[in-house]
Amino acid sequence: MVTGMELQDLNLRNKYFDAEQFRADFPALNNQSVYLDSAATALKPQAMIDATIQYYAHNTATAERSLHHNALQVTQTIHTTRENVANLIHAKHSHEIIWTRGTTESINLIAQSYARPLLQPGDEIIVSELEHHSNLLPWLIVAKQTGAKVIQWSADIDELSSLISSRTKIVAVTQMSNVTGFCPDLAQISQLVHQNNAILVVDGAQGIVHQPINVDKLNIDFYAFSAHKLYAPTGLGVLYGKATLLEQMSVWQGGGKMLKTTTFSEFQVAQLPYKFEAGTQNIAGIVGLNASLSWLNKWDEVQADNYLIQLSNYARSQLKQFDDIQFYSVEGSPIISFNFKHIHHNDIAILLGDQNIAIRTGELCAQPLMNKLGCHGVIRISLMPYNNQQDIDKLITALNNAIEIFA
Ligand code: PLP
Repeated sequence: MVTGMELQDLNLRNKYFDAEQFRADFPALNNQSVYLDSAATALKPQAMIDATIQYYAHNTATAERSLHHNALQVTQTIHTTRENVANLIHAKHSHEIIWTRGTTESINLIAQSYARPLLQPGDEIIVSELEHHSNLLPWLIVAKQTGAKVIQWSADIDELSSLISSRTKIVAVTQMSNVTGFCPDLAQISQLVHQNNAILVVDGAQGIVHQPINVDKLNIDFYAFSAHKLYAPTGLGVLYGKATLLEQMSVWQGGGKMLKTTTFSEFQVAQLPYKFEAGTQNIAGIVGLNASLSWLNKWDEVQADNYLIQLSNYARSQLKQFDDIQFYSVEGSPIISFNFKHIHHNDIAILLGDQNIAIRTGELCAQPLMNKLGCHGVIRISLMPYNNQQDIDKLITALNNAIEIFA
């Protein structure tokens, strides 16, 4: 008989990565268009689309409520997906995984349920200046509500040592910048944060896609990500929190199954994770995420990552042929941000769009970082293992065509 451990070994050995086969799983790539906007949202594999169709066409039911066959089945899928997400990020318990609408909602939940009751006037929340607005605005809002202060930090570890103090209650940082692709050293940051009795909130929206994360080993208190950037449906997010913290937090939305008992005068909240899941969950989204995770599981992530680094290096070497290009992103990152000195980023986006090349331009929801970089916006191409050299070659041709128009 094969034990669970042996089965896991067998699965690991069976993993492989083949760029063409990987790409073939994405129906959106069956045409001439080039998709270089995956940091905004990832394309969806057929396996995920099929699972969602199956749920809507044949297995529609609500979860954790009705007792008919489909309802029990979908309830089981939600439990399994919660466990799979816990395994993915190395959470100790599946009840530490809360379903939300996305990274943004997850971080707002932490700000309102954890930080708001805790913060006193004069307390400090240190936020890195790499952050997406979703990991800045929730802190600015809660600071306003409580009299706490948001402290700007460059994401440099030495600077953190000088900023952190007994007033620091929270440090919020990204796993990977959506503008520069920079990945702060979470291990060092976590150590410093906990030496100072603060808690660490990590925005994993970009990082989860490209870097394995171990929330337990890194001693991360809260971790947030969005399913849609990980090949899964939109409208679904994950909040991981240490059980000890989640248990002491007050609920932030009421209704549905977040309660054990209620009368007109008082209520008792449900246990984790349900106390934070008011209303019907995004069932189709969770079914889709489960399918995406099992599909992802068959690919060797180290090989996929190496392929992506090579592709990124190729893209950068090709982009370097443009004399007046200025890069903002780190070498080898799947996120490549740049500008041409004399052409507005949005003009490039429109001219590339006309040539069926999808990219992202603008502030990328990171206004403070744009100020720091000294620009009003950037051109961003973002790569996934479904991209290939032909995509980059088509991008370069399209950029040459666009630049010619301006010349
Ligand atoms: N954080 C980062 C680093 C992101 O790149 C994004 C989305 O682009 C978000 C947060 C917000 O994610 P969502 O809109 O799915 O909540």
